[in-house]
Order: sequence, then structure tokens, then C-alpha cells
Amino acid sequence: MVLTDSFERPLRDLRISVTDRCNFRCTYCMPREVFGPGYQFLNRTEILSYEEITRLARIFVAHGVEKLRITGGEPLVRRDLHTLISSLREIRDLKDLTLTTNGSLLRAQAQKLKDAGLERVTVSLDSLDDAVFQAMNDSGVPVAVVLDGIEAAREAGLAPIKVNAVVKRGTNDHTLVDLARHFKGTGVIVRFIEFMDVGATNGWQLEHVVPARELVERINAELPIEPAEANYRGEVAQRWRYTDGSGEIGVITSISEPFCGNCTRARLSPEGELYTCLFGIRGHDFRGLLRSGATDSEIAAFLESVWRVRDDRYSELRTAETALLPKVEMSHIGG
Ligand code: SF4
Repeated sequence: MVLTDSFERPLRDLRISVTDRCNFRCTYCMPREVFGPGYQFLNRTEILSYEEITRLARIFVAHGVEKLRITGGEPLVRRDLHTLISSLREIRDLKDLTLTTNGSLLRAQAQKLKDAGLERVTVSLDSLDDAVFQAMNDSGVPVAVVLDGIEAAREAGLAPIKVNAVVKRGTNDHTLVDLARHFKGTGVIVRFIEFMDVGATNGWQLEHVVPARELVERINAELPIEPAEANYRGEVAQRWRYTDGSGEIGVITSISEPFCGNCTRARLSPEGELYTCLFGIRGHDFRGLLRSGATDSEIAAFLESVWRVRDDRYSELRTAETALLPKVEMSHIGG
């Protein structure tokens, strides 16, 4: 079944956040001043069980979802994540199962995840410069730990590996060419992400954004690249390949060139709220349905009622005022 929204966009991707907790405190995502010792995270009974997540995922796949991405918070801090991966892997018609992580716990879990059926992985890494990276993650984790996690993913056969780097002017933009150079020719695809006004706590200002055009120019000046075709409709990153054939990079242009017209993504929060946009203000409660004994058909009918009227296109409408709206935090629903 193909379920389309009010702009004829199908539902193709579901991002499932399995926890609101993280072992990093990235300043643009979970700033320590807000997410400090007194912060009230969700308790165990509030978050969806793996059985509940799998049941929902099955219903979503029956409605056209082809790709599941596990996110958080940091998904690898949730216990026995590989058991969820095994259950999701069994869903018929699921084409792609992946996960986004900060990489710090990958060494211990990569093989287990691969054996459970995970296909590939995306690792967040904003800089190879330790001082810059640690200032951004604000948790004392060095670059070497993340690089070792990426190596563990490679050894386990999780492929292709993607590396996501949020680029913030004046913070890490001077290190982006080094990041590209490090992974050039290794098969790892680095994707540079324009700094976005996600949530309400990251202090976003337009002047911190390095537009994709400038990112591309800066890389091209040292490592020549040319545009490449998108792999499929709705692909988030614009692809650029090295002219010497040694691989590719991606650029995610949410600010300078919004791509809402092709947005096929929904996001499920740890407590079972469905957000139809990364910049959503309120979610739709699926946990209440799950726990009140609703049948699969009733849950499916709710999903249909939510997606059919979806008209989100936040990035196309963004203004200085919308940046101040009380949006859901990225650390809650994944990126
Ligand atoms: S702003 Fe919302 S609708 Fe637009 S691409 Fe991002 S998630 Fe999709």
C-alpha cells in the first residue's frame, strides 16, 4: 500500500528513536546547561518496548515504509539493541535497516548488530581535530574512540559506512577539508550537514550556517569533486564524487536549499509519538493506542489519518521567527 500526504509525498522512511539518553552532550544537540544532572529523562515504563516498536514498524512497512533507521539519543546506550534489530529484520518487505550512532560504543557492539541483521551504519563525527571535537561533544570522548568504532563497523561488514558532520561556522568549518581527505578513498562517505535550527536549545543563528555552495567550493578547491546523480527520490544528501574516482561525499542542504518537496520521512519518539517533520511541535500518540488494546487495523487507520493530512514543509517556510518556535528536540527524535 502506498500512503501519500497532502503534497503526494509517500511514506517511505521511518526513523525510530529508541532512547532520549546519550553519553555525549553535543552543544548543538544536547547542551549540558539544559541536559545536565537535573534533567528528567523518560523512565523505562514510558518508552516503547522492543515488542511495541516491532509491532508498529510492521504496520508502517505494510503502509509503504521501505527503510528503518534506528536513532536516539544514542541508540547504543539502550540495552540489547541487537535483539530489536533481529526482530525488525524479520519484517517482510523491509528493504533497508540502518542505524545512526555517535560511534563511541560501536567497538563493543558492531559485530553483534551485524549478526542480528543490521546492514549499515551512519556515524556522527564533526571533526578530526581532538580539541574541536571534544569542545563540540562536551563529554571528553576523543576522536580516536570514534575512529575505532568506525573501524569495528568496517571489520564487521557494515557497509557502506557514512560519517555525518554538522558544520558550524567558526567552530569546526576550518577542519572539514581534513575530514573529507581522511576518508577519501576508503569507501566511507562523509556527509556535511548545514547547522540547523532543530529544537529550541541549540542557540541557532543564521550566521553560523556555512551554505552548501561554500562547503562544496572549499572542498573542491583542494579535492576536486563533481555532482553525481541522486540514488533515489527523496535522498537527503546531494551527492558529489571525487573526479579521480576515489569515492564521494554528500551535502545536506536543509537551510540553503530545502528539500521538503521530496520528504518521505516520519519519526517515532522513544515514547511512541509520531512526528511528521524534524521541526515538528507536537507528535501523534501511538503509545496510547498500543497500550489501550487497539488492533492492528485501528493503529493503521490512525497512521493513515495522520499521514494523509500531512502538510509539513518547515525548511521551505523557515524565518527568523520560526527558528524560535518550541520545536521537538533533535536528541528526542534523532536527526
Ligand atoms: S523540514 Fe520537515 S518536511 Fe521539510 S525536509 Fe525537513 S523533515 Fe521533511
